[in-house]
Amino acid sequence: MSTPSPVATLTALSAAELPAASELVARFPLTPNPAPASDPEYDAVMAHLSFGVAFSDHMVRARWTRDEGWQAHRTAPFGPLTLSPAAAVFHYGQEIFEGLKAYRHDDGSVWTFRPGFNAARFNASARRLALPELPEEDFVASLAALAAVDQRWVPGVEGSSLYLRPFMIATEAFLGVRSAHELEYLLIASPVGPYFVNGFQPVSIWVAQDFHRVGPGGMGAAKTGGNYAASLLPQQEAYDKGFEQVCFLDAATNTHLEELGGMNVFVVDADGTVRTPALTGTILEGGTRAAILQLLRDAGRTVREETIELAPLLEQIASGQVAEMFACGTAAVITPIGRLAGEGFDVTVADCAPGSVTTELYTTLTDIQYGRRADPHDWMYRLV
Ligand SMILES: *Cc1c(COP(=O)(O)O)cnc(C)c1O
Repeated sequence: MSTPSPVATLTALSAAELPAASELVARFPLTPNPAPASDPEYDAVMAHLSFGVAFSDHMVRARWTRDEGWQAHRTAPFGPLTLSPAAAVFHYGQEIFEGLKAYRHDDGSVWTFRPGFNAARFNASARRLALPELPEEDFVASLAALAAVDQRWVPGVEGSSLYLRPFMIATEAFLGVRSAHELEYLLIASPVGPYFVNGFQPVSIWVAQDFHRVGPGGMGAAKTGGNYAASLLPQQEAYDKGFEQVCFLDAATNTHLEELGGMNVFVVDADGTVRTPALTGTILEGGTRAAILQLLRDAGRTVREETIELAPLLEQIASGQVAEMFACGTAAVITPIGRLAGEGFDVTVADCAPGSVTTELYTTLTDIQYGRRADPHDWMYRLV
């Protein structure tokens, strides 16, 4: 039985409904960077891709004021921002973000995955943080504009991409507590290799029982920096104990699995059923999660979105009833979970090799993203 979700799922524009990128780029007119990375600087970055340390030559921006709405859309040189120290984002954390990737296909073209979903989620996050919505086509236009001018930064090697980071911040210089009257939308890009340095290898997870990242009525369904800030101390403590990632439990009962700090979680039963926590309002609805659910349904598998209690899960792992677990998100795609531990328990899910369902999903999804396999749901959108 699947638990019905009280939270409306994100309705995403399919790529087929969006205007072509070439029709959108002009919405963010370009001021070229007079001092782009030199060839040696560029070569050094592209030869050693890691996650989120180097950035492309440009960024996209637009301003919003309460009186005039969105204005000053532009593509500008990447560089420091000039903000008042009183800018509201520094004090009250009024901020949202997104994460997508631009993938280079074999023919040299550049594509992104379900930008309409991310545009819709950005606006859902905006509503929760009392920020103005950005028209979905402008969100997609910003991706197209940056990918067009910075296409040399989209790497071509296996597993690499240009990570796209749209975000919105409250820039108004005002220390009163209310929704800001001045904001900025920005998009920056970072050429990245695989997220986990060890590649597609099972990771160890610490289940936090004394910290929560979100609570009922909080911001858990929004993609906002505050939720990440809440996850950093437990993540650091888990790391010090020798674990790679943290899984959080629900704050109301402290008994069921919600998600990792920035990835959704799945359980594969030995009978082939696949389960993931239902969207209760305290879980971020991942685009990778949604795509995986669709791929599993396409393959005729039984898929359940429901409450996953920790105590029975531990028994099912120990008895072999649970065969695989994995986490998923845009940055790391799909990460097998090999070990689940917390105060008073420590169980092994996968001894060395990732499971077959996990591997198959990883292959199918990345094949679609890199243009190596048909895209039956129109998920891919051509940027360049
Ligand atoms: C971004 C994010 C995810 C993953 O979402 P994707 O759209 O798959 O990248 C999962 N959980 C949290 C908390 C996130 O912020």
